[in-house]
Amino acid sequence: MSWQAELQAMGKMAANVPLAPRTTLGVGGEAAWLFRPSDKVHLIAAMSLIPEDVMLLPLGRGSNVLIADSGIDGLVLDLGDINTLHITDETIKVGAGVRMSKLAQAAANHGLTGLEFMATVPGDLGGGVAMNAGAFGQQISDVLVSVDVLHRDGHMACVSRDALDMRYRYTKLPQGALVVSATLQLETSDTEQIKAAMRDMRSKRSGSQPLALPNCGSVFKNPEGNFAARLIEGVGLKGEQRGKARISDVHANFIVNEGGASSEDVLHLIRLAKAEVKKQTNIDLEPEVKLVGCSL
Ligand SMILES: Cc1cc2nc3c(=O)[nH]c(=O)nc-3n(C[C@H](O)[C@H](O)[C@H](O)COP(=O)(O)OP(=O)(O)OC[C@H]3O[C@@H](n4cnc5c(N)ncnc54)[C@H](O)[C@@H]3O)c2cc1C
Repeated sequence: MSWQAELQAMGKMAANVPLAPRTTLGVGGEAAWLFRPSDKVHLIAAMSLIPEDVMLLPLGRGSNVLIADSGIDGLVLDLGDINTLHITDETIKVGAGVRMSKLAQAAANHGLTGLEFMATVPGDLGGGVAMNAGAFGQQISDVLVSVDVLHRDGHMACVSRDALDMRYRYTKLPQGALVVSATLQLETSDTEQIKAAMRDMRSKRSGSQPLALPNCGSVFKNPEGNFAARLIEGVGLKGEQRGKARISDVHANFIVNEGGASSEDVLHLIRLAKAEVKKQTNIDLEPEVKLVGCSL
């Protein structure tokens, strides 16, 4: 039996899957294969069956990726069914496929503070850990205790936060490892206060980001002591358009898809912003968005 047929028995397996609808930016080609294991046991079993030369891409909500128009000649892993969530006192153990907004809500309902920002950040816990997501002065590394990772050879390991070298939008996961679940340590607070903070963060967001159009969040990391949006606006690129992609008029560190943009359109704008900021300010902007199958 082929490895693809064996995976089929452990979850949902499909060929030639369009990835644009699986990203918040809505661009990108197809994945040769997409596999959604039904649970952790099947994920572990599947991992040892996937040939080593098959490229693997874990994809959560696809809210911080730019996938090439040519797609991915490999296997996309959708961990959406690895979605257990256990709360014991102030500790949460949560699966990679749990949406961060749902996690924030669950923590709030239990009177636990530390994850309010997740109410405003799209994506799954696995993607959040991989990116060290954060906002409003909070980030995952503040509350993370450890991560259960699955290595490419099929063995599981528990990695403590300190071994992950987590920094601003950066996590050093072991090479090729998947985040399967994480343990978070929160603090007790008042549920109503937590929910009010979440509402406040949401309303601040809706006024300052172009949320009506498909986008991938911040395109560049903020350089030390500065803001990528301010720099891009400063070099006159706010509103710059290429095909159906545009540097947002609302927030210059966002690129929006006005309907039918290609990955190449978006890449063109990223390259332009990076080059122009470098030329005019000598600052090197580093992409926050993960480029998959393409490069600058
Ligand atoms: C409107 C908008 C606002 C945003 N605001 C913020 C913000 O305020 N703060 C912030 O930090 N981010 C923000 N983002 C970016 C994004 O939401 C975060 O980076 C989020 O953590 C990505 O999660 P995801 O599940 O979508 O990951 P994906 O985009 O699917 O993946 C991101 C990266 O993580 C890897 N990955 C995904 N799952 C796993 C896994 N299980 N194991 C190992 N690697 C994995 C992927 O391969 C990829 O390299 C925003 C995005 C949008 C669209």
